[in-house]
Order: sequence, then C-alpha cells, then structure tokens
Amino acid sequence: MSSKITPNTVSPPKKVRVGVLGATGTVGQRFVTLLSEHPWFIIEALGASERSKGRKYREAVKWKQTIPLGGLAADLIVKGCTPEEFKTCQLVFSGLDADVAGDIEYAFRAANIPLFSNAKNYRRDPHVPLIVPLVNPSHFSIIPQQQSLHSPLLSKGFIVTNANCSTTGYVIPLAALEKAFGPIESVLVTTMQAISGAGYPGVPSLDILGNVVPYIGGEEEKIEWETLKILGGITDSENETDKNGAPLKTFDMHQAGGRPALRVSASCNRVPVVDGHMECVSLRFHRRPPPSPQQVREALSVFTPEIQSLGCPSSPRKAIEVFEEPDRPQPRLDVKGTHNGAGVSVGRVRQCQVLDIKFVVLSDNVSIGAATSSIINAEYAVLKGIVS
Ligand code: NAP
Repeated sequence: MSSKITPNTVSPPKKVRVGVLGATGTVGQRFVTLLSEHPWFIIEALGASERSKGRKYREAVKWKQTIPLGGLAADLIVKGCTPEEFKTCQLVFSGLDADVAGDIEYAFRAANIPLFSNAKNYRRDPHVPLIVPLVNPSHFSIIPQQQSLHSPLLSKGFIVTNANCSTTGYVIPLAALEKAFGPIESVLVTTMQAISGAGYPGVPSLDILGNVVPYIGGEEEKIEWETLKILGGITDSENETDKNGAPLKTFDMHQAGGRPALRVSASCNRVPVVDGHMECVSLRFHRRPPPSPQQVREALSVFTPEIQSLGCPSSPRKAIEVFEEPDRPQPRLDVKGTHNGAGVSVGRVRQCQVLDIKFVVLSDNVSIGAATSSIINAEYAVLKGIVS
C-alpha cells in the first residue's frame, strides 16, 4: 500500500493560492502537511489565535506530525483570522475551534472568500452543504442559492462544511451499499474514537490511559442527523421561496420520493488510541431479501466515487479497502490504509442476527475525517469552476 499522494488527474490551469485558519491545531497541522506537497494549492497565509499571531509558524506551532515541518510554511508569519489578512487567497480552509468558527467563517463568506470548514457551526444550515467528498459532492449544487442569499452582489463567497470525523468514516460504506442495494432502513453504530479527535492537548492522559470513556459530548446526535443530510438528496423547500416566489432548494434528509426514513442510533466512546476511529456497524436494508455478506464485500470493494473518475489529486485510488483477515483492520496497522488516510478500511463483513449485515470500519479521523476531505472538496470546486 502506498502512503504517498500521487496525482492521478488533469491539472487546473494555474496554481491556486490558499489560506488555513486554525493552522496551529491538530487539523490545521494536517492541512499544512498535505498542502505543502499539493500539486495545485500554494499556502499563501496561515492564521490562528492572538496567542500565535505575529510569530513565525515554526515558533507558534507545537508540531505533532510525523513528517518534519519544512518548506515555505515554516517561516510564514501567523496572521489573525480576519478576511483582510487573507484577501490574496482564492480559498481558505478552516480548522478553527467551534467556539470561534461561527463569526470568523461568516466574515470570510461575507468578504467573498470561499471557505471549507471542519467546524460544526454551519453543518445544520439549510443552505450550506455538508459534504463527504467520497459520497455527496453533488450537494455543491446548493452553492449558487447560498451565494444569492448571502452575498448577492459579488457572489464568490460561500461556506462548505465537512462532516464530523466519526460520521465521515462510516457514511462512506453506507453510501456504497445504498448505491448497490437501495435504501438502508436502520443503522446501529458503536464508535471507538481516537484521542486526536479531541484536538491538542485533548483528553487528559489520566482520563484515557488504560480506560474507555463512554461519552463524547454531542457526538451521537451529530452522527444521527448528519448521516441523513449526507445520504439524502436536494429537493424543493415547502416553506421557503426566493424573491420571485419560486421554492428554494433544501436537503431532503433522506426522505425524498416516499423513501423510508433512515433511523440511526449511535453510541460513542473515546479509547486510548492515538489516530483512527473504529466503528462497529449493523444495518438493515429496505430490500428483502437482503444482500449476502459476499455481495456486500463485493459492492464495497468496487465502489468508485465521482471524485475518483473526475481526477481530484487527493482522492484515494481505492475508496474502500475490504479486509478478509478476521482481525483487521486495526488502527495501529491500518489507519493510513489506502492512499495516506484518504480512503477507509472495512473488515469483518458478516451476517447480523438482529438486523441484516454487520462490519467494522476504520478511518483516519484527521485525514479523511477532516483535512483531506476539505482539500478534496476544494479540488472538486476548482475542477467544476465553483472556485475561480
Ligand atoms: P485544536 O487542535 O484545538 O486547534 C484549534 C485551532 O483554533 C488552533 O489553531 C487555535 O489557535 C485556533 N483558535 C482557537 N481560538 C481561536 C481564536 N479566538 N481565533 C483564531 N483562532 C483560534 O482543534 P482541532 O482538533 O484541530 O479541531 C479543529 C476543528 O476541526 C474543530 O472545530 C473540530 O471540531 C474539527 N474537527 C476535528 C477533528 C479531529 O480529528 N481533530 C476531526 C474533524 C473535525 P492557537 O494555537 O493560536 O490557540
């Protein structure tokens, strides 16, 4: 398995100047690592809090990546997170803490700077797409409406959000299975989430070493509703219209066209693992009889998201690696999986005695669960001309 990103695509016409907000954090550092080697994106500006502002990035950051910090980013002076300080950027990635992301991200959109966010603040917004790039990049189609509502004069700014890291990992196999076998009716998911998912310094070592914490605030609710927005489609709103009286577009929350409502029940645990969220999933299909475990394995293995055929350079060559070994995937061995953490690994596909099928999925919470998803979303937006 390769751990290197190899461009598999056409190049955009020219380099794209990008900024990173929250660049000193766990997700921000992964952005800097990935963008430093990116074939299209050039890091133009890095931003963080007042604590870091005005210092060289190498001095402000507590660097926790396995690859040494080098290149041009190391000597950039960290800026404050205001649109004025990022006005030469064509797009901006945000790894900001949710406590501050709301106002800052709003200001960037208002200043006509496209913003790709990892924070939760705008995920529920009815005009902001919640995009897992291996699943629903088609939801970019809501962007013109968001622009006409929020920046009608210039309309270059917008906000796109990523999903919560634990939602991202397990929704990819769900999408593959819905594509192959039609709607899923119910899902039970139990997570074992890595410490890095809580940022740096995160959970105190005395709380997590030799322990499991069976509670992550707000996480279960996020998985339960985000899944519906991501796997659903876009439809006409029943109660919102534009200035001409035409219905606005909205997210159908997986209930369009008489489709049975998908029910999701999540149980979330923090475990003493550094990187990689493991999730045990059991699900029931609408169709009867359900597919066999072997059919499920094959459908997962051949799943090819649109971003792969489009040629986004950070897309994984294989979206879902299916393991046959009974004791894989494991975080320590498999977290980088296929293509530097840009895909997910599934194992233990078998019959469920209560629902239909069960399996385990492992994802790199800081890569496909955060920075890599944002970067692929931005690549898609550039290729589709949504960012210019
Ligand atoms: P983190 O390690 O705590 O980093 C937070 C970043 O926000 C730091 O760069 C910090 O800068 C900056 N910041 C804090 N207060 C600020 C302010 N007032 N103004 C400007 N910048 C400020 O957090 P993280 O784990 O990287 O998470 C970042 C976001 O991504 C969160 O919204 C989180 O929920 C989400 N997310 C995280 C993961 C994950 O696996 N970690 C996965 C998916 C989504 P200083 O260093 O200067 O304080």
